[in-house]
Amino acid sequence: MVVIMQERATDEQVTRVVAQLVDMGFDVHRSTGALRTVIGAVGGRREGDPRLLEVLEGVQEVLRITEPYKLASRTFRPENTVIAIGDLRIGGDEVIVMAGPCSAETEEQVEASAAAVKRAGAKVLRGGAFKPRSSPYSFQGLGEEGLRMLRSSADRHNLALVTEIMDVSQLAVVQQYAHILQVGARNMQNYTLLRELGKARMPVLLKRGISATIEEWLLSAEYVLAGGNTDVMLCERGIRTFESYTRNTLDISAIPVVKQLSHLPVLVDPSHGTGRRDKVAPMARAAVAAGADGLLIEVHCDPDHARSDGAQSLFPAQFDRLMAELRIIAPAIGRSICVEPVARRGWSR
Ligand code: PEP
Ligand code: MN
Repeated sequence: MVVIMQERATDEQVTRVVAQLVDMGFDVHRSTGALRTVIGAVGGRREGDPRLLEVLEGVQEVLRITEPYKLASRTFRPENTVIAIGDLRIGGDEVIVMAGPCSAETEEQVEASAAAVKRAGAKVLRGGAFKPRSSPYSFQGLGEEGLRMLRSSADRHNLALVTEIMDVSQLAVVQQYAHILQVGARNMQNYTLLRELGKARMPVLLKRGISATIEEWLLSAEYVLAGGNTDVMLCERGIRTFESYTRNTLDISAIPVVKQLSHLPVLVDPSHGTGRRDKVAPMARAAVAAGADGLLIEVHCDPDHARSDGAQSLFPAQFDRLMAELRIIAPAIGRSICVEPVARRGWSR
């Protein structure tokens, strides 16, 4: 932390600031220039609130020079985190595509969607059984029955399964079926849930909250990491802005920003990020070009009749085409992506 004093700050005011910093556990280094005094503070307790200094008389500005999150930061761990699920690696050279319907609806729909995404080269099946819907009257998901459908199709096609957990009470049941626990945008700051996931022995996909800053998002990841679960991947899914043409504004710049600040894998969800099927492929291509470690994409075997998010779900043929385009883009930036749309590589957890 650096405290810059006002030009006319008195010695008493400087002394008061120093005393406050010492009280907060900092080692203080004072530098008095011709115009003003600057106080450097190192160490200190993590929870030290800079506003306690900002409100003191004579203080011009307080600058924080370390991030408030520790375990999530690149300073703490310079090399990329690579999450292993069987022989799948998330955060390594390969761009991992996770795809499937917004929600599990019927056995046939899950199976047809899983078969389609597998054929095109996805490595992970996505699909929700516990759905966070804006309206309580909308389809809320099939619960455990949906999880069962998703897992049996995932197994049949040798795909891992990512599915959402909305509440601590669902943890036991979701863990029985999932390989990756998805925390949705609305739950990014559900700290009780995040703490529980810190104790879980299963990778977590943490979506960015609808109005969350990157710092808040990384602090949420810190909750899970601090609980002892090191397998956290982040997922940018668009934030709320004044723009209304798209459902959300997909923050592509978050990819290089987070990759610099953190060692955690960064995925992008262009489906919720745009809310429109015709905008999904361009944003998916942009995300891979910008360095995303993976994508989370809604694909439905019959999107026009989907029970949730049909308008943003790709038809299988559109997903095929997108995967073919990604196979050109990924190598151009030194990444690999499933070369052949094949059923290969056995894995288990
Ligand atoms: C989803 O992935 O279907 C979902 C509900 O996403 P989000 O939490 O990003 O809205
Ligand atoms: Mn959805």
